[in-house]
Amino acid sequence: ASLPLKDPDLLRRQCFIDGAWVGEGGFEVHNPATGAVVGMVPRLGADEAVAAVEAAQRAFKPWAAKTAKERSALLRRWFDLIIANRDDLALILTSEQGKPLAEARGEIDYAAAYVEFYAEEAKRIAGETLPSHRADARILVVRQATGVVAAITPWNFPAAMITRKIAPALAAGCTTVTKPAEDTPLTALALAILAERAGLPAGTVNIITGEARAIGGVLTSHPAVRVVSFTGSTEIGKLLMKQCATTVKKVALELGGNAPFIVFDDADLDAAVEGAMLSKFRNMGQTCVCANRLYAQAGIYDAFVEKLAAAVGKLKLGEGTQDGVTQGPLINEQAIEKVEAHLADATAKGAKIVLGGKRSSLGGTFFEPTVLSDVTAQMVVAREETFGPVAPVFRFETEDEVIAAANATEFGLAAYFFARDIGRVFRVGEALEYGIVGINSGLVSTELAPFGGVKESGYGREGSHHGIDEFVEKKYMLVAGL
Ligand code: ADP
Repeated sequence: ASLPLKDPDLLRRQCFIDGAWVGEGGFEVHNPATGAVVGMVPRLGADEAVAAVEAAQRAFKPWAAKTAKERSALLRRWFDLIIANRDDLALILTSEQGKPLAEARGEIDYAAAYVEFYAEEAKRIAGETLPSHRADARILVVRQATGVVAAITPWNFPAAMITRKIAPALAAGCTTVTKPAEDTPLTALALAILAERAGLPAGTVNIITGEARAIGGVLTSHPAVRVVSFTGSTEIGKLLMKQCATTVKKVALELGGNAPFIVFDDADLDAAVEGAMLSKFRNMGQTCVCANRLYAQAGIYDAFVEKLAAAVGKLKLGEGTQDGVTQGPLINEQAIEKVEAHLADATAKGAKIVLGGKRSSLGGTFFEPTVLSDVTAQMVVAREETFGPVAPVFRFETEDEVIAAANATEFGLAAYFFARDIGRVFRVGEALEYGIVGINSGLVSTELAPFGGVKESGYGREGSHHGIDEFVEKKYMLVAGL
């Protein structure tokens, strides 16, 4: 397997533990577009996970003792290297994940932006002095690094999900052990190479691949790990949370969503279609903030479905490295089977396929971008995250009705709506029980804003100055006898 990289050394077969490259290729990483083997990574387990945690533990005190400015400079250097190697990183990412190269480049920029932001924010993790209850004493609140952070990340954003956890952790003075997803470990290892080149000290960034359950078991039980930051399925999130209870770790969870995307009668319809395309079809519908349920008000329902289908018809499926491709394959067979099951259920209950609705003639895990009309709350697509290129469009009459429908889920990550009436914008924005609400936009992700959910979509926020909170403890120091 040889990718045309400018720097072939960025494709590694080893894990990065305690500043050393260890293990050897144990399992293959495949290109979901072709099935070709892209690389091999080690199949490590509990022993190596313990070694990684202990390395991070040893590195913690000296790293936390550095000045914020020193940590900042190293993060900044890492950012510069990520940007300098953007094309190679994007090619590795597309080869293991499938998204079009342009989208992969966008993700590398997005991933790098977290490193840049937290390089800056490192210098602004300020404490406070509070009014005291005694004349001879002062109350100080200092924000100190929590300790070793474990990050467990998914395959849909192989670069960004890692930097948005470990950049704020490092900025705060924590050290990290990351277990990337089995499907996409190569981007993570390439990022580690650049962290090493940037001069981040041994043990501050550890990346371990292998047996998820065994590694996860250590990361959620080892007493030295103080924070577990997870992005992935609700099922595994709940399991990890349970496992963390025995040693009372801080847990940050970014889990599944079931995003509603609402188009009101007064919306700018073209803007709504553009927003829906971004929100629904980016990464082939495989993001946790992807619109899962589209609601169009009765007065514009037919027009919206028609315009949406016209836009979806222009999408181009193919291998992510080919020119003009907008849609890659789904990540694996399981993913495509879920899409098929949701479609079969919807059509059996009366939904109409406006466009798509079947596997692509390209084979593999390519699926035709699909628009469904006449969708109802009784269908599985109303309750479960499809995580694929299916846009089910529900019809609604009133604002109250659609708010109730949008909130009728155990999830609460992202929601979107399009409307121009200013009263409606505030009413609906405040009534939606979600951590993120995109109003007149289908794209909400940025390192400058706090990203995270409510209800069973998890808790904790990533991005912005709030993203530091997971990685610092507020220590109260009473200084008396003055
Ligand atoms: P998805 O359905 O998106 O693959 P998962 O929640 O299964 O989501 O996976 C997200 C991450 O969680 C991956 O890195 C995966 O390896 C990891 N993971 C899965 N099961 C466990 C487990 N039992 N312990 C720790 N990590 C796990």
